[in-house]
Amino acid sequence: PIPLGAAAPRRSRQGVVAWGEHRVTVGGDAPIRVQSMTNTDTADAIATAIQVKELAQAGSELVRITVNNDEAARAVPHIREQLDRMGVSVPLIGDFHFNGHRLLADHPAMAQALSKYRINPGNVGRGEKKDRQFAQMIEAALRWGKPIRIGVNWGSLDADLLGQMMDENGRRPQPWDARQVMYEALITSALASAERAVELGMAPEDVVLSCKVSNAQDLIAVYQELARRCDYPLHLGLTEAGMGTKGTVASAAALAVLLQQGIGDTIRVSLTPQPGEPRTQEVVVALEILQALGLRAFVPSVTACPGCGRTTSTVFQELAKQIDDHLRAAMPVWRSRYPGVENLKVAVMGCIVNGPGESKHADIGISLPGTGEAPAAPVYLDGEKVTTLRGERIAEDFRQIVEDYVAR
Ligand code: SF4
Repeated sequence: PIPLGAAAPRRSRQGVVAWGEHRVTVGGDAPIRVQSMTNTDTADAIATAIQVKELAQAGSELVRITVNNDEAARAVPHIREQLDRMGVSVPLIGDFHFNGHRLLADHPAMAQALSKYRINPGNVGRGEKKDRQFAQMIEAALRWGKPIRIGVNWGSLDADLLGQMMDENGRRPQPWDARQVMYEALITSALASAERAVELGMAPEDVVLSCKVSNAQDLIAVYQELARRCDYPLHLGLTEAGMGTKGTVASAAALAVLLQQGIGDTIRVSLTPQPGEPRTQEVVVALEILQALGLRAFVPSVTACPGCGRTTSTVFQELAKQIDDHLRAAMPVWRSRYPGVENLKVAVMGCIVNGPGESKHADIGISLPGTGEAPAAPVYLDGEKVTTLRGERIAEDFRQIVEDYVAR
């Protein structure tokens, strides 16, 4: 038989990111984690704590905050306190660039309040300073017992390393493409930094790697090679993916290819929020990517046909939207009452062509009448037709059937 569709098993070892009693495992056979990053001024502890809470409630299991100056560093313990007071136990990750070694040394309360440090090897300094400042950050991680992410980004690639690799490439009889040199520099920067961290005393389980680029094909090429060369847990994300549909589709396309190959242990979708769009949108997209691939389930899913000329009224679209909204709104209560409810599948279909078949594949399905069909909507539970709805109250009646099914 044709093998069942499934993502390849993941190859990374497992690590732990901890806050208090709340431990989030990353890598190995742990669930692929969703993470996000705030865009508030970290120095504004209240605004940052509120946004972290919103991101956590949307489904972000780790939240990163920038720690870019002394004011931000001083605010971090207060952010942690506020979150604890609100009952939000999500681990906070500190994002450091340029001055992280100094901030971690000067602000022990901040170093302690964070659950993990992100270190960008391209931004820790240059020349001899680079090694010393990198070592200072690792020493802080060891002193406070924190895991790290070596987060390389092609926008801030180690300039010394890239220059050296470009020179070497110039001496090759057949020089590589400039992008290939960059791939090699990204991976070398990440792996050499991880090796150095381990030499300095970090447990390999406390090291996560990322090599972010902003183009899907480059991201796929770099992570495939990175996964081939190491078994560190990998943080996956298309950096600077952009806004709206473009950013969403580019992230989904790139991440799906890698996740299907068993590559990636925690994901971040880097969307530029459009005016009025909540920061939580990047979390929603990350959850949907994992759920679409069947890697995790977060909310009951609604299968709806696209509609066509056979559906002349908007009743069908309205019902699909109402049911989807209702499932998402009910989910916080359902999650605590009904374990496994996130795996529920509901079908809302527009006519008799695919309606009954798709409804039978779902746990609960309804096939609305299309043009020229009798005004009746058969409802299916667990593949069996159980009733037919008619009249003005089809939406309310179907919602009640969903409620009763979930409760049962
Ligand atoms: Fe059109 Fe019916 Fe197919 Fe929906 S199920 S797309 S209404 S033919």
